[in-house]
Amino acid sequence: MDETNAFDNAIKQLESASKFCTCDRNLVEILKYPQKIIEVTIPLQMDNGKIKVFTGYRVQHNNARGPYKGGVRFHPAVNLEEVKALSLWMSMKCAVVNIPFGGAKGGVIVDPKKLTAHEIEHLTRGYIDKIFEFIGPMKDILAPDVNTNAQTMAWIMDEYSHISREHSPAVVTGKPVDNEGSLGRDTATAMGGKYVLVEYLKTKGLDIQLLSVAIQGFGNAGYNIAKLLHEEGALIVAIADSKGTIYNETGIDPTAAMKFKLKHGSIKNMPESIEIKTEDLFSLNCDILIPAALENAIDHKNAKNIKAKIILELANGPVTPEADLILKDKGVNIIPDILANSGGVTVSYFEWVQNLSRDYWTLEVVDNKLKEIMLKAFNDIHDFANLKKCTLREAAFALAITRICLATKNRGILS
Ligand code: NAD
Repeated sequence: MDETNAFDNAIKQLESASKFCTCDRNLVEILKYPQKIIEVTIPLQMDNGKIKVFTGYRVQHNNARGPYKGGVRFHPAVNLEEVKALSLWMSMKCAVVNIPFGGAKGGVIVDPKKLTAHEIEHLTRGYIDKIFEFIGPMKDILAPDVNTNAQTMAWIMDEYSHISREHSPAVVTGKPVDNEGSLGRDTATAMGGKYVLVEYLKTKGLDIQLLSVAIQGFGNAGYNIAKLLHEEGALIVAIADSKGTIYNETGIDPTAAMKFKLKHGSIKNMPESIEIKTEDLFSLNCDILIPAALENAIDHKNAKNIKAKIILELANGPVTPEADLILKDKGVNIIPDILANSGGVTVSYFEWVQNLSRDYWTLEVVDNKLKEIMLKAFNDIHDFANLKKCTLREAAFALAITRICLATKNRGILS
């Protein structure tokens, strides 16, 4: 089987965890299939007058526990198998943190770096026009993902509200705070990751101030985790973005690195750091590896060279099932994506609640609620893994599958 097929990988994870589930295993079969797959074409008049046609997807995996929820990715490598996998992981993630959402994901095959801001806006609006009937505050709620951001979400809210002739902020989360976005949503994915990592280190008696970290990806998830862990006293020794990888054994300041990236388009060639090969990032001598870019970054080829003892999966699906087995044998502990990056969807849930109630919370309230949910999820999973003698990934999947299957059983299998 192709190690890079993200959906096959997600199904393998589902199957390997289902033996630990406490629900009717028959129901797990349902989770192997998305409930709905929507494929659309989006014609776009480019600024030079030429017409280009883009393909977009929205995959709605499961809504037994609540409306579908999931981000939208703009990337040239988007494909249906990837969007299906990401939608399945969203169902699991929402169940892991026990928020009342199902799972979905969207994607458009496009390299937004080759489009002007005006073209990206019209592509976003075109995508929403085409999927309009399938989304909504009680149907399917969108959010940011790779190469989409708060500005993209504002266009989505505006386009949806325009077509529905109703102000509808709750159709999308991750909006700018000026457009009813939640305080704390921009840093939520990394903040949630930090909470579970710090809690995990406590269980091992490790002090974060003595640990070194290498991070792949320097966008929303990667930059913010670098900054938060740097503030906690960890040493950030390496950072990679899509153009280059930098290393400094005495530590990189993430704020300075972001300043450099904003000015030069990449962290590549940042002063006071040395350039290393991208593939060398994963074999560095460090304590914690954080993949925060795309799927399949760690596969059977590079897994055997990994020296770090802890992997915090901020990206979705960064470790293939083959690599997972190698790392388990090597004694590398993985904090799995459906737990590690679930802070993002948790604060998205808070944003949706605030939009629907028309009542807005302080950053302190958001942060306290996020911490409470992340620690509860971590401890449930950690206890389950100890009890069943399984990995944190198997425990997280098993708890999520059980919750979804119980909701399905109560509603009926056609839900
Ligand atoms: P982003 O677009 O803000 O950043 C992506 C980063 O990855 C960029 O710095 C890019 O240069 C880098 N990158 C891409 N390919 C790379 C490669 N081959 N090597 C090194 N770096 C590479 O995206 P994001 O929102 O930070 O998402 C990153 C990951 O986190 C994705 O897997 C996404 O699904 C996941 N995630 C994001 C959120 C969120 O709230 N943004 C929530 C949960 C999970």
